[in-house]
Amino acid sequence: MKILVMNAGSSSQKSCLYEFNGINTHSPLWEAQIDYQQGQGHLKIKTGQCIVKQESLPSQSRLDDTIAMLRYLWQGETQVINDPSEVDVVGHRVVHGGQEYQSATLINSEVKAAIARLSKFAPIHNPINLDGISAIENIFGTVPQVAVFDTAFHASLLPAAYVYPGDYGWIEQGIRRYGFHGTSHQFCNRRASEILSSDLKGMKLISCHLGNGCSLAAIQNGKSMDTTMGFTPLEGLMMGTRSGSIDPSILIHLLREANYTADELEQLLNKHSGLLGISGISGDMREIIEAIAQGNERAELALDIYLHRLKAGIGAMIASLEGLDILVFTAGVGENSALIREVTCQAFTFLGLSIDSEKNKRSPVDQDISNPESKVRVLVVHTQEDWEIASECWNLMAGGKVTD
Ligand code: ADP
Repeated sequence: MKILVMNAGSSSQKSCLYEFNGINTHSPLWEAQIDYQQGQGHLKIKTGQCIVKQESLPSQSRLDDTIAMLRYLWQGETQVINDPSEVDVVGHRVVHGGQEYQSATLINSEVKAAIARLSKFAPIHNPINLDGISAIENIFGTVPQVAVFDTAFHASLLPAAYVYPGDYGWIEQGIRRYGFHGTSHQFCNRRASEILSSDLKGMKLISCHLGNGCSLAAIQNGKSMDTTMGFTPLEGLMMGTRSGSIDPSILIHLLREANYTADELEQLLNKHSGLLGISGISGDMREIIEAIAQGNERAELALDIYLHRLKAGIGAMIASLEGLDILVFTAGVGENSALIREVTCQAFTFLGLSIDSEKNKRSPVDQDISNPESKVRVLVVHTQEDWEIASECWNLMAGGKVTD
């Protein structure tokens, strides 16, 4: 089964083609990505044979760019199929599925209307997900399309974890914790099971997704029990440009005393806070670490806050799970920064957690970096959200489960 995955971000459009036959293969046949910088799209395509094509896209329309990108599936030197009809199913990463959509869902007009309606909760992401669906309809006609929701993995949260202690009426208005990065956390749980050759039954796992956006998930028996992101992806840990959790009274104070508008506050908290807001330099962790090496005190403060909140967040997840057996680090920072893994793990030595410092420094992918005597296994996992989306499509369409 040929499964095309569409993963739309605020400043990128990624797409992968997988060949699935129920056996666990993680490499796509074809990978493409458009990165948008100052309104201009830059396209990069890689095939299984490592043919790389790069070009700037002339168009200003995201829909046209996506269509241009997808044509390279069957045209030019990056061609991997002869005709669009060879694609059996298309899976879309959809950020917000609200309370209605708790698992991967075949897209029809009703689902599209719901994604549009839920744009009020995810105003940047859900509309571009709809653009992706239109681009596929444009090229592939009636091919089955599946929505895989970022919120779905956290549908298992209990009311104590998802209800905010505000007005009871909020629940009916859809104001509750949803949680995000669901496909990544789900993949990490699956990969941990493969790496440890265990079904993880009864085990308590915390997945730390540390990318530009950061979130934790507390997982037991494959189910999300708690998570740091909430009603929107703004809650929880300090992130690249997002503040994470702050006292809501700060917003009331800024509205009253500094005449901020709602839009300005949204920009401030999402785009100009976090590592960028504190350091004044960058939201990119590599640049923060470089600046610290050059003696930049604000960058050092930014990293200190990041680590403080990360450790506190893991502590909260341990309390929700009432224990910890496996700690997983993933995404850009989690997979690559030995420093952040080391400092974070040091805080939990009181649990009998210890890592092999030399192994940690090598940033090994998909490996256990804990010492044999450690009471908690510590894994570095390369997150593959696109593969997880493809596997959800396979499960839905073929009624099968992927096996090793
Ligand atoms: P996104 O959330 O957009 O998918 P990524 O998962 O790619 O982002 O993570 C991006 C973050 O990972 C950036 O802050 C980047 O600096 C950080 N990162 C990548 N490599 C390293 C590294 N070697 N050391 C520290 N941080 C890194």
